[in-house]
Amino acid sequence: MSPGEAPLPARFYPAGGDAHGHPARLAWDDGMLLVQPEDSSGLLRVPASQLRVEARGFNHSQWAIAWAGDAGATHTHLLLVDDARIAPLRAAAPALFAAGDTTRRHSQRRFRVGIVLLAAIPLAFLGALLLSVEPLAERLVDHIPPGVEQQIGEAVLAHTRAAGPMITEGPAFDALQAIGKRLARPGEVLHFHLAARPEINAFAAPGGIVVVHSALMASAGSAEEVAGVLAHEIAHVELRHSLRQIVKSAGLRIILTGLSGDYAPLGGWAAQLGELKFSRDAERAADARGLERLKEARIDPMGMLRFFETLAANTPSGPALLSTHPATAERIDSLKAAIAAAPGAPAQSIGIDWEPVKNALNSPSGPQRK
Ligand SMILES: [Zn+2]
Repeated sequence: MSPGEAPLPARFYPAGGDAHGHPARLAWDDGMLLVQPEDSSGLLRVPASQLRVEARGFNHSQWAIAWAGDAGATHTHLLLVDDARIAPLRAAAPALFAAGDTTRRHSQRRFRVGIVLLAAIPLAFLGALLLSVEPLAERLVDHIPPGVEQQIGEAVLAHTRAAGPMITEGPAFDALQAIGKRLARPGEVLHFHLAARPEINAFAAPGGIVVVHSALMASAGSAEEVAGVLAHEIAHVELRHSLRQIVKSAGLRIILTGLSGDYAPLGGWAAQLGELKFSRDAERAADARGLERLKEARIDPMGMLRFFETLAANTPSGPALLSTHPATAERIDSLKAAIAAAPGAPAQSIGIDWEPVKNALNSPSGPQRK
């Protein structure tokens, strides 16, 4: 730095002086450091050979320039200069800064390692969460409020609507509503939707939503058979099987989603809900619970059995309903046994003439769709 250049601002701590330091200006002149304390007229000239330079401060953002005080004194003069200002001095006398630069590089490396370690702690925590996500999801399901369950159900339904036409009127739609109404308990809110789809299927979504494919209704022989399927699906709703399954398949995302409070993305993850497989235990529980509901509604439980048997006998490759709700011989047998053990009160016919329903679904003009 030539004398003509603007002097560097610094803080000067004279040897043996107070601890506060004084504003000073620095310049470099031909191997000499010129120090001009602002509150004194005395200009100090220090040869480069007497200077010791160290990096200091948090993350070494400052430079300390020290030199011995008067002969015999144990104190040293000290200058503190911000790193942002030091460039001209460093350019003039690079050798002075070599040791400090090394210290600084080491410290910055330590700092970076520290940051990485700091970041690693929450990552390790998340990893541990991932490993225990299943039990966590189980517990979370119990804490999802009904309003949120409703939201997730609506999101699933939105995906179903986007995937193909829905039937919202006509004999099949009316029949579905009538069967659903017969099965619902007083005060229970259930929504039955009819999707125009060629696969024989039905599924339950969170929030009391049951979606039935038109092909299922068309392949059934009576309202009682459809009631059997609906009772089974309603049981999945009641037991929160779909919600549990969505939460599990969403994994860690459910936790993040829960934190953000926006459950809409879960609908996306649940888009493949029709293919969600419940455990064998869940299916058995839904059969038992569904059977109870049929008895309560005084609907002939043989309809449920008949439909499952028809499906199992006529479709060797297994329709969608069977692949997602495997109607194993064991399942049919235990259904039979349960019906035989407790036949319940005499059934009352649902009273829907099924031929017009089938005809409406199979007619060349097709059912009413929206
Ligand atoms: Zn099922």
